[in-house]
Amino acid sequence: MQIEKRYTLLINGQHVESSTGEWFETYNPATGERMAQVAKASRADVDKAVDAARRALNGKWGRFSAARRSQVLNQIAAILRARFNELCELEVLNSGKSLGNAQGQVMQAIEDFELYAAAALAHEGRSKPVPNGFLNYTVKEPVGVCAQIVPWNYPFMMAAWKLAPALAAGCTIVLKPATLTPITALVLADICQEAGVPDGVVNVITGSGSDVGAYLVEHPGVDKVAFTGETSTGKDIMARASQTLKRVTLELGGKSPNIVFADADFDAAIDGALFGIYYNTGQSCEARSRLIVQEEIYDRFMDAFVEKAKKLVMGNPLDKGTHIGSIISEQQVEVIDGYVRSAVEQGARVVYGGKRPEGAEYEKGHWYMPTVIADVSNDMKVAQEEIFGPVIVMTKFKDEQEAVALANDTIYGLAASVWTQDFGRAHRVAGKIKSGIVMINNPFSAFPGLPFGGYKQSGFGRELAMESLDLYTETKSVLAYIGEKPLNPFGL
Ligand code: NAD
Repeated sequence: MQIEKRYTLLINGQHVESSTGEWFETYNPATGERMAQVAKASRADVDKAVDAARRALNGKWGRFSAARRSQVLNQIAAILRARFNELCELEVLNSGKSLGNAQGQVMQAIEDFELYAAAALAHEGRSKPVPNGFLNYTVKEPVGVCAQIVPWNYPFMMAAWKLAPALAAGCTIVLKPATLTPITALVLADICQEAGVPDGVVNVITGSGSDVGAYLVEHPGVDKVAFTGETSTGKDIMARASQTLKRVTLELGGKSPNIVFADADFDAAIDGALFGIYYNTGQSCEARSRLIVQEEIYDRFMDAFVEKAKKLVMGNPLDKGTHIGSIISEQQVEVIDGYVRSAVEQGARVVYGGKRPEGAEYEKGHWYMPTVIADVSNDMKVAQEEIFGPVIVMTKFKDEQEAVALANDTIYGLAASVWTQDFGRAHRVAGKIKSGIVMINNPFSAFPGLPFGGYKQSGFGRELAMESLDLYTETKSVLAYIGEKPLNPFGL
């Protein structure tokens, strides 16, 4: 009999089972096959992890110089490079994303560790000119024990986005991966240990968000919560964290517009729009899920878009030629399908997809066709709510003013793309869009070094950039009196 692989918690550098001895199962969403059992953490395990993180902060990690932390981060990146193929495969198996997607994301995670290895060295306080007899300087100190909670859509990359700046800043961490995709975050934590991160600096708790996740957020031993996930969960987290006034950063949902002006490079805009929505099977916070096209090219654009969408290869995520992988769960397939049905009920037109794919290869696992919904008005549910699947909704606009108004007519403000060959218009529109990221003539979002994060209900705080280090540090201002005569402020 084959012995099933089991993944345990990582607490204080030790692999441990849950204190209750409970396990949960994790699956390959593309086949529905069970991959492994994972320890189901209890609240007592959270207490132990937070305690380990606190002791590590006060222990030798707290005495590591920035240079030494930088070396460790570079060493993590080196091990990740050496284990690149294995990590990509594991990510595909646990998330159902295509191999190409996983490769890009694991590579980005590596670059992220390299970025923060350099940032650790560059992050510094400053000295302000103050009146004679005084000396002032500011010091950046680690904010402390950080709870880091990540979603299932980019299990490895999100864990890296969280761990790298926190380690660079000298914090300690209790990481909670999503229940559906816990494996690669656990492997990443092991790699941190192997690279020289002392015991207790990175702890991993696997288990239910509403139970151990919420408990972790409320824990008085935690100084900061860094969360990526749904906007509704972010609101709950912010409320819970407020009880002890923890520092909070939130990377939440989106409904990002992709605006195509009639003067855009037509073919480039088609290819960019396809990538913008169907990358990662549409399960991306920054997916350009609203395609807003100028009316004179709207019909031609829709036809060309559908023709290209038909060419996308969906299937075995491990095949090199696959563009579109599976959906994370059957529940998510139902959510997506429910949105498509709602669009039809509200008067929109499904012009491609809108259903599960047919064929033997899709009988197991969770699949949904790339879908195009046309004639969507901005008040429809599909234009306002995050679908989190391979579904684009198309709306037309008359002029620049209307394009901007439509783009901004959402509670979200994560990302946007603008396609036009008019240089002035591109930058005018970029300036007027209320989102943290605006791309001109490209569909991308995340580059190591460029700040990533949202306006409005897409959250606050920035990842991937230097300013993330400020979010993992407190600034201490030290004012020293260095005058010759003693100070006598009351003049007595
Ligand atoms: P989710 O909010 O359901 O879960 C995210 C994580 O939070 C998981 O680890 C979950 O177990 C945990 N969790 C759930 N309830 C909790 C609670 N009450 N307290 C503490 N932790 C809790 O999100 P998801 O479905 O895993 O991921 C998809 C969402 O993530 C989408 O909305 C997407 O837009 C968003 N996302 C945002 C970004 C970004 O950078 N803005 C990036 C990726 C994903």
